[in-house]
Amino acid sequence: MALIELEQVTQEYRLGPTRVLALDQVSLKIEKGEFVSVIGPSGSGKSTLMNVLGLLEVPNSGHYRLNGIDVTTLDDDEASMLRNQTIGFVFQSFHLLPRLSALRNVELPLIYSASHDKTWTRKAVSERAVHALERVGLSGRSHHRPNELSGGERQRVAIARALVNSPSLLLADEPTGNLDSKTGAEILTLFEELHHQGTTLLLVTHDAANAARAHRTLKFLDGHLAGDILRAAS
Ligand code: ADP
Ligand code: MG
Repeated sequence: MALIELEQVTQEYRLGPTRVLALDQVSLKIEKGEFVSVIGPSGSGKSTLMNVLGLLEVPNSGHYRLNGIDVTTLDDDEASMLRNQTIGFVFQSFHLLPRLSALRNVELPLIYSASHDKTWTRKAVSERAVHALERVGLSGRSHHRPNELSGGERQRVAIARALVNSPSLLLADEPTGNLDSKTGAEILTLFEELHHQGTTLLLVTHDAANAARAHRTLKFLDGHLAGDILRAAS
């Protein structure tokens, strides 16, 4: 069974009289353990794809099966729960809470889990978050707030937060877009390590060199899947 299966997924937005087909009959499968990059010009539907895959948006039509579950049948609470347990999201602009330390930011998804599962203790939450910060090489920064961290460090905190629930799927939408090229390359190296440790990874990128570090590249154009390129495993 594929981790992700999209069947003829279509997402349309209306802006006044204008209709935009952000996703146009997209069908694809992604297996557990793949590292896939997603490229295409601005406006081609990459972020819409990530939002659909990340259960942030329900498509207008088509089917999306995640681990065999047809997610279009879930209500909002069920979708939130599944998202929290299964998906980690990393964004271009980090989306960290400015008043919280790195550690507290990373704990947030666990606080949500703990509110649904009373067997979680405060100590267990904190230990998991510490471990996630270790995985991204940031243990020494756990008590710093975002504004006391460099861009690369902030993105590492965001990646730790995305990993803290051990998600089946890590979605990263232009995660190096706000970073200089050297820091971006370091973040890519971290993604490669996570992939080698078994994480399934989808990475949207503008950078051809970054895209080529994945073993498979999906190319979007005007909302449709215009290319699906496989490379030899790295
Ligand atoms: P990309 O990430 O490849 O730049 P997007 O998925 O963000 O592309 O957008 C695809 C198309 O859908 C674009 O034309 C964009 O303007 C439109 N779009 C995206 N989100 C919305 C929205 N919430 N409302 C209206 N139009 C949207
Ligand atoms: Mg985008």
